Amino acid sequence: MIYGEISHSSHPDHKLKLEHRERPYNCDGCKELGFGSRYTCEESCNFHLHKDCASPENTFTHPFFPGCLFHFLEIGKPDRFCDACGRDIKGYVYHCFTEGWDLHPSCALLPHTINDGETKLVLHREVTSRCHRCGKKELRKSAKSWSYVSTCEECHLHVACVKEILLENWEKQHLCDGKFERRAKTENSLAIESRDSKLHIVLQKKESKPGKLAKFTKMVKVAITLIMAAVVGDPTALVATLIASLINH
Ligand SMILES: [Zn+2]
Ligand SMILES: [Zn+2]
Ligand SMILES: [Zn+2]
Ligand SMILES: [Zn+2]
Repeated sequence: MIYGEISHSSHPDHKLKLEHRERPYNCDGCKELGFGSRYTCEESCNFHLHKDCASPENTFTHPFFPGCLFHFLEIGKPDRFCDACGRDIKGYVYHCFTEGWDLHPSCALLPHTINDGETKLVLHREVTSRCHRCGKKELRKSAKSWSYVSTCEECHLHVACVKEILLENWEKQHLCDGKFERRAKTENSLAIESRDSKLHIVLQKKESKPGKLAKFTKMVKVAITLIMAAVVGDPTALVATLIASLINH
């Protein structure tokens, strides 16, 4: 078989090919957002899988859940949400039968540290400070979200909130243009500008001096792009740089 080409039980009629495209997609495995590298149907069925959804581990352990063994399931139990991001489980899932935890494959594999040389972010299960996007510690009463916290302890962002920023921009594009696929020229405009005002308000409560605020806002923006690359299942420097360039447009 050609390198980068696979057969997958979820799409038995066609081969899937590993591709890197600078546009978002919906993973047909876990039903979550993806960006960057993915397995795509060669026959333009618009069928995509995250790399980690195309070749998952049968069982999986996670340091946040010591003693738990997660099993990969193509169809999870109904009415479940992800214990990492709080979003619904609609497809592929890592499930712990003993404790009942559920994780999206892309959430299960979120890197514990993200470091671009300047900003270092660490993944936390427990939230100790308010998120700069939603201004809250807990996502909602019934669901928590993991957060990335900068090593200076200044920047806190829910994984769920960063996913939300991505989805809002993506859906807005859908609404404006109908067909996302037809937008070859502007397909890269996955910007976060629309959230800036809200982000700004949450930040102002924290920092008062303008110089400090500008520096801090910049750090939060960098942090958001780094986390975005991680949540879409392609935590590579390439994807983070790409997302950063889109935001700076
Ligand atoms: Zn997936
Ligand atoms: Zn196909
Ligand atoms: Zn999740
Ligand atoms: Zn939040």
